[in-house]
Amino acid sequence: MDKTKHLTIEKPDVQDKGIQGAAAILRDGGLVAIPTETVYGLAADALNPQAVARIFEAKGRPSDNPLIVHIAHLDHITKVARTVPESAAKLAKAFWPGPLTMVLPKADCIPDKTSGGLDTVGIRLPSHPVARAVIEAAGVPLAAPSANLSGSPSPTTAGHVLADMEGRIEAVLDGGPCGVGVESTVLSLVEERPLLLRPGGVTPEQIESVIGPIDIHPAVYHALEQGEKAASPGMKYKHYAPHTKVIVVKGESRDFARYVNSKGDKIGALCFDEDLPYIKVPAVPYGHAGRPDTQARGLFDALRHLDGLNVDVVYARYPDMDGMGLAVYNRLMRAAAFEVVEL
Ligand code: AMP
Ligand code: MG
Repeated sequence: MDKTKHLTIEKPDVQDKGIQGAAAILRDGGLVAIPTETVYGLAADALNPQAVARIFEAKGRPSDNPLIVHIAHLDHITKVARTVPESAAKLAKAFWPGPLTMVLPKADCIPDKTSGGLDTVGIRLPSHPVARAVIEAAGVPLAAPSANLSGSPSPTTAGHVLADMEGRIEAVLDGGPCGVGVESTVLSLVEERPLLLRPGGVTPEQIESVIGPIDIHPAVYHALEQGEKAASPGMKYKHYAPHTKVIVVKGESRDFARYVNSKGDKIGALCFDEDLPYIKVPAVPYGHAGRPDTQARGLFDALRHLDGLNVDVVYARYPDMDGMGLAVYNRLMRAAAFEVVEL
């Protein structure tokens, strides 16, 4: 393939030249990475199996790992879902547009390629004005997983996208850094009780305030046991990991600093901004202490910087667990293959 085009935007509007350019590529069965409020998505026409097949190829994504379908209008949910339960309608009203993906029975127009062979489909209405303008201009729902190579940290800037996807996709539409920084919350509404498959920008507490109690899949907290069934195919796969080994350390700021400083050569730290003055090894901050929203925004960029530290092991500060903390915890634990040290 030719060089990946770097498209820019003047206005997040259907008429914008960059957005029109992206839409034309998508209608033609091509791939464009687009900004969303969560992370950059690698978009293709969700209804075109050949276009969708190219997403899997470009990312190196296992073909049983389904793609989220993005729509631009609330009423388009009935075009991509076979049935819409009342709970989904309530959640859409409360959190769309926004970082919530709902898993529902799929409509016949959704190809098996898009749903990874499942009879269900994850659906989201993003709030990023550029993402919505692109979907509208393309005139079709867009399948858009995170625009990284399978297994590496999700991209939150156009630069991250190009680092992984240069020469593999037609274009990236540059909308600046993403506001949320971690992927959407994935909630299945096809189980007896709503089941959280992936924590994200909308918290379990927020969801429960609208539809009552939900279950949280154990794989949000722990590695899947051998033979344990993955409710979401994505749970099976290694994720978010830099090449450098990461170990999460649970402890207060001073104890964390003492621990990493005592570890010897070729050691790095992934910490909060406030920890930096106390840390004597190469360190990358991922947000402010006590501010999970900033930790979410900074985590993937920080993970991408770890390989540049040229160390053997990076010790990571345990995230704050309130609000979006569960989403940050889940990404960081998976980057560390769930390896934790408690001080
Ligand atoms: P990504 O596309 O990289 O944001 O990842 C999407 C996540 O949503 C993956 O972990 C998928 O396994 C999960 N997912 C998407 N569609 C479904 C579905 N129909 N049922 C269960 N999980 C899904
Ligand atoms: Mg992903």
